[in-house]
Amino acid sequence: MINLVLFGKPGAGKGTQAEFLKSHYQLVHISTGDVFRYNIKNQTELGKLAQSYMDQGDLVPDQVTIDMLEAEVEKNPQAKGFIFDGFPRTETQAQSLDAFLAKKEMEVSGTIALEADDDELVARLLKRGETSGRSDDQDEEKIRNRFDEYNQKTAPLRAFYTAQDKFHSINGIGSIEAITQRLMSVIDTL
Ligand code: AMP
Repeated sequence: MINLVLFGKPGAGKGTQAEFLKSHYQLVHISTGDVFRYNIKNQTELGKLAQSYMDQGDLVPDQVTIDMLEAEVEKNPQAKGFIFDGFPRTETQAQSLDAFLAKKEMEVSGTIALEADDDELVARLLKRGETSGRSDDQDEEKIRNRFDEYNQKTAPLRAFYTAQDKFHSINGIGSIEAITQRLMSVIDTL
């Protein structure tokens, strides 16, 4: 079983790469951002709760996110493994994920960060915003706020996973295919 955490700032390419990796390794892809957006679109209670945070580019509170993630994993009892995309984003979430997986005799196999500099990411997100309809991709101030959230709350996970000898990083600049190859060469060692 492979349980992969894709790590990286907004726009780093986690979602794009997860699409290739999930079919290659036959994994279930869980993007917490996508689940929140689905709930907003369908105006569920969870969606109403998450919306104001997402609109500002702030993180949704931990417990809400953790409960949602656990429910998504529980929906897939037959899975051969998971790609966690956009989760965990705080140390509390990372600790909860370890505890939750341990109860199921599972664990994070590895964490792979896609590295790219902020200016490249802002350009990618603004371009995506032209077609995605995502308000958090259309405003540079909100994008920069998402980076601040990442730097303050998510970047410490590097040390968290390094301490477990599970942290890997690759260059996230290049063609989609080249980056997929870089990821697969790390995954095949896990
Ligand atoms: P993403 O699609 O991964 O860029 O996520 C979009 C937005 O969803 C983020 O800016 C947060 O508001 C929210 N979100 C997604 N994943 C998480 C998470 N693990 N913890 C808290 N908020 C999240």
